[in-house]
Amino acid sequence: MLKAKILLIEDNPLQAKQTQVVVGSAGYEVILAENGGTGFRLAKTQPIDLVLLDVVLPDFSGAQICQWLKRDEATRSIPVIMLTSKGSVEDKVAGLQIGADDYVPKPFSDKELLARIQACLRTKMREDELRGANDQLENQLMDVRQRAITDAGTGLYNRRHFFELLDKEFSRAKRFNESLSCLMLDIDHFKEVNDTFGHPMGDRVLSEIAGILKQSVRLIEVAARYGGEEFVLLLPKTSPREAVKPATRILESVSSLRFQGFPPDRIITISIGISGLPDPVIASKDDLVQCADFALYKAKKAGRNRIELSNGEELSKGKV
Ligand code: GH3
Ligand code: MG
Ligand code: MG
Ligand code: MG
Repeated sequence: MLKAKILLIEDNPLQAKQTQVVVGSAGYEVILAENGGTGFRLAKTQPIDLVLLDVVLPDFSGAQICQWLKRDEATRSIPVIMLTSKGSVEDKVAGLQIGADDYVPKPFSDKELLARIQACLRTKMREDELRGANDQLENQLMDVRQRAITDAGTGLYNRRHFFELLDKEFSRAKRFNESLSCLMLDIDHFKEVNDTFGHPMGDRVLSEIAGILKQSVRLIEVAARYGGEEFVLLLPKTSPREAVKPATRILESVSSLRFQGFPPDRIITISIGISGLPDPVIASKDDLVQCADFALYKAKKAGRNRIELSNGEELSKGKV
């Protein structure tokens, strides 16, 4: 096992020597700081396991140093044992109140000092272990949460999470009377891509297009995989007319993708349907999605590789 490293902050050379011998002969590595400032710096820059801190120092008081050590993120978890000749109850209480882990009045017996050091180190080890286990659990939890909202094939949000986000965005847009656009995207003749070049190539196409979508949405915008080769985007604070510009950019980026194994002139295209607020016909989030879907259908019917805007007409006629 690695030797525990103990930082002794003590200005009295004789006392320092004695303590160093006692602690050193018990198998610990001791480094000495002769004043508070040096001690604090060492605690911040070296891997210290425990601090033995004299209360009366030439530059800062031990209490001050202890406070700094306990406030600093980098040194907070290092146990501090205060060493002092003042043995009054008030001093002990004050020392513990500012965060010292233990308190040993001088003159101390070697045995007592070593026993307290050992006890503090044991507690620290247990705390470190707990902290480590806790961090690991937190990471696992984050990982599980991330996986629960992500589509494994593309790394975009999944359909379920899309509906959760849609719920929030739609309510917010309605409440604050803001615009909100929904873009439904579908790869054109994707079945043919699979049939001609194989399913793995189809998967590559999907993931390249997902990459374009990830790049084209700002942080607060939502890009999700809606189904097999369908994607959906939410653009808050963007009206359907304003959404045409980013939609056009996406359309062009997709059609300029080139894939190894494709003939040079073979391109992939998508169709996009856009719906959005404000629109008197759209009363619910389901209306919003249905209108985008219908606009997408119009784009397909009109020849694909294009963008169509919903006018809500189909919804009001009850055709959707
Ligand atoms: P359209 O232009 O009308 O949309 O024609 P399409 O061929 O794209 O539409 P269709 O609905 O006929 O076919 C969709 C195809 O997408 C069929 C299905 O096998 C494929 N697909 C769905 N999910 C995946 C996937 O994860 N990977 C691959 N490689 N193919 C997928
Ligand atoms: Mg002193
Ligand atoms: Mg489809
Ligand atoms: Mg398709």
